[in-house]
Amino acid sequence: MMEASYYEQAKSGLKCRLCPHECIISNGKTGICNVRRNVNGVLMAETWSRLSAMNIDPIEKKPLYHFHPGENILSIGSLGCNMKCRCCQNWHISQSPVAGYSLGRSVEPAEVVSMALSSSGNMGIAYTYNEPTVWYEYMLAVAKVAASNRLKNVMVSNGYIAHKPLEELLDYMDAFNIDLKGFSEEFHMKFTGARLEPVLKTLKQIRKAARHLEITNLVIPSLNDHAGLFADMTNWIADELGPDTVLHLSRYHPDYNLYTEPTSPAKLEEFYEIAHKKLAYVYVGNISLGDLQNTYCKKCGELLVIRKGYQITVAGLTNSGTCIKCGNQVMIR
Ligand code: SF4
Ligand code: SF4
Repeated sequence: MMEASYYEQAKSGLKCRLCPHECIISNGKTGICNVRRNVNGVLMAETWSRLSAMNIDPIEKKPLYHFHPGENILSIGSLGCNMKCRCCQNWHISQSPVAGYSLGRSVEPAEVVSMALSSSGNMGIAYTYNEPTVWYEYMLAVAKVAASNRLKNVMVSNGYIAHKPLEELLDYMDAFNIDLKGFSEEFHMKFTGARLEPVLKTLKQIRKAARHLEITNLVIPSLNDHAGLFADMTNWIADELGPDTVLHLSRYHPDYNLYTEPTSPAKLEEFYEIAHKKLAYVYVGNISLGDLQNTYCKKCGELLVIRKGYQITVAGLTNSGTCIKCGNQVMIR
């Protein structure tokens, strides 16, 4: 445990200011995320240095397709989340309180970084699996040590974080994949228990700070697959974040508390076409659909990266991430 940052005294408890929920937490209780507890008037981050998972993953698995393609990243996660998505694939860690899960021993930040440095071919550390925002103090501490050792830091998040903590994090984080779960407040609140507007603000803040940003949208039949709303979302991304913003369309599979049929290939192809009218780099994941996972240069059409599952072939990029044919800057390498 470690004292949490971003909280203040309130009339009936402690007010956590880490995310837009701004929970008021009375003594002995936790906030919505299950892992930040009021212990006798001090807000404690219960999962500090406690990991639920640690793996070396391809960076494409985050997914990040335009950031060090074909490389590996040490990926770590813990417990807790500030959303309650009905089809969370990681519900066993995202929705579990600390007492309900058997976590491993404590791993201090320097030890994680040392493991990252000793894994051959590893380019950095990804904070992922559950929601890393609710692991904020530990993520930030690891990211600082990692950055000072020239490792890259990657955050895979639902984007539900307050402005100030994100601002502090942006000094150390190199790349983000943010879930944009839908484009209506009603759906977002009903499906995740959190508002949409703060997520849009997070996306703009990351873009303004010029960090690498990719977005994932999980397409769920009958819940967020309205073509008009999806077109509004891709227009917003192009206008507010830029037409080169990478968008991953992800196929939904039943899990946790949602048993709707998986997304049809036809719907994913339809959404790919809609998104591609506005955005240069759109991919379809969680399914093998033609060549919708490959990267082509938006300027000259050259095939740059071939992806077959997690087999990655960098075919047409220079060492600095430009297209070998026309010199267009497409990726960070
Ligand atoms: S981080 Fe957790 S405790 Fe803090 S406001 Fe968000 S959900 Fe509530
Ligand atoms: S934001 Fe991610 S981790 Fe949290 S409940 Fe939703 S899908 Fe699960």
